[in-house]
Amino acid sequence: MPLRLTIVACVTFVAGCAAWTSVPSLPERSSIVRDQLDIRSDFVLPQKHRLVEELVALRSDMGLKLDLPTSDEPIRVYLFDNANAYTAFMGKNYPTFPDRRAFFVESDTQLVVYAYWGDRVAEDLRHEMAHGYLHSVTPNVPLWMDEGIAEFYELPRGQRGRSAAHIALLWKRYQERHWSPNLRRLESLNEVAHMEQSDYAEAWLWMHFLLETSRDRMAIVQSHLAELRRTGTAAPMSQVLSGVETVPEESLAEHLTWLATH
Ligand SMILES: [Zn+2]
Repeated sequence: MPLRLTIVACVTFVAGCAAWTSVPSLPERSSIVRDQLDIRSDFVLPQKHRLVEELVALRSDMGLKLDLPTSDEPIRVYLFDNANAYTAFMGKNYPTFPDRRAFFVESDTQLVVYAYWGDRVAEDLRHEMAHGYLHSVTPNVPLWMDEGIAEFYELPRGQRGRSAAHIALLWKRYQERHWSPNLRRLESLNEVAHMEQSDYAEAWLWMHFLLETSRDRMAIVQSHLAELRRTGTAAPMSQVLSGVETVPEESLAEHLTWLATH
């Protein structure tokens, strides 16, 4: 690939990758364009499908909470009919990518999502479109925050980003003393392939803590993203939080305890 390429992926691996002898082309049979959203699928997707409506609404939800400006840069979504077609295409065109159910790919000229129609397509598209909307207006978002925000917004609308799966995973590991919060460690991860499921869960927990517990904490995230837009860089969140929380990791553990017991 000749261009700078940033990949951001979903956490879950593709189930049942089949060997294909012919490689499918990009889905182009059906097209839906709504605001930035530009979906191309190799099957007919109803124009008013509720998933499409949810993806359109996601942009305004994120804009309000994260104080994002709006962009008119299209985010192209290639939606394959099934996992085999998707896997064959990705294997041929992006052979170095890890094995994931969906991808967001940013180049210098395009924002593209690849996914397939499966049991978890709604979650996958909300996750990848969250990356798309964020990247369309904010450069250089730290990987952990990028994934934390995408994990937050992959939940169905109305759940306020609360992930029962992440809470259960972290709570179990925390009680077994196999995990404790460490934002500096998360900040040191710079490749999706190096992120484990518990890293996605911890990234989600930090973002849930910041976005759902107080206006002041939400404003910290908004300021961080605004600084990235203004200057292309921002002080690490661990440094910012150490100035406003006595011990940020303890505050996060308290938040997890509250979530797990309420
Ligand atoms: Zn992601």
